[in-house]
Amino acid sequence: MQQQDVNVYPAYDANMPAEADEMEYALPEGFVYLDEAIEGVLWDAKYSTEDNFIGSVVDGYQSNRIACAKKMIPALIEARDLAQEKGYQLLIWDAARPQRAVDHFVSWAAEPEDGKSKEQHYPNIKKAQLFQKGYVAKRSGHSRGAAVDLTLVDAETGEAIDMGGAFDLMDKRSHHGAKGLTKQQTANRNALKSIMKQSGFSPYSNEWWHYTLNNEPFPGQYFDFVIGGRSQEEQVQQDIVRHNMETDLPQ
Ligand SMILES: [Zn+2]
Repeated sequence: MQQQDVNVYPAYDANMPAEADEMEYALPEGFVYLDEAIEGVLWDAKYSTEDNFIGSVVDGYQSNRIACAKKMIPALIEARDLAQEKGYQLLIWDAARPQRAVDHFVSWAAEPEDGKSKEQHYPNIKKAQLFQKGYVAKRSGHSRGAAVDLTLVDAETGEAIDMGGAFDLMDKRSHHGAKGLTKQQTANRNALKSIMKQSGFSPYSNEWWHYTLNNEPFPGQYFDFVIGGRSQEEQVQQDIVRHNMETDLPQ
């Protein structure tokens, strides 16, 4: 497996419009940015990149950050600690997902097939079937702040462990108990499942990476927001700290 390109420090989006202020990127009440709420967890927000099943940056993801329901944080901390005991780190791909992102998936699915992401993400089914087969939902648990997509990374090597398929591979191969996996791949999926179940999450039979918090924070509520960069004020502070550190360096 290749070294994962993941964030270990909050990513600042240099392309953030100059007029953007803190309010524009404020998350709804009851939500937090993962990088401001929990330490020792890796993330790579796939929908803020082109490396996802629609092959382009998804609406609402203006920065490579993870938004998360506050009530999920204690469960993720438990999962992080359990993972650590077993020599793993958590790598999170998505958690709270704005409704506009889900709407983007729906409009993308209605467009003609361009082949851009098919081979890698849905080789055996048509776009429209992604909804019928339960890989994508028009109303998602992610938009209720109840779901998280993640995998395990070997804490020593920094490599993602082999789960026998990539994130958002919409295929039978991604089902729990899928045929054609090696014993090790099945064991790896089970290791993640065991950690998540012990931490208060339930698995989803069609996607080994998707977990739902048992105590839903906002049942029946769907949220829309924009996942943004750090505020300019924070960035200025950070630059000052960096500048001071540089000037403090011995000659
Ligand atoms: Zn998911």
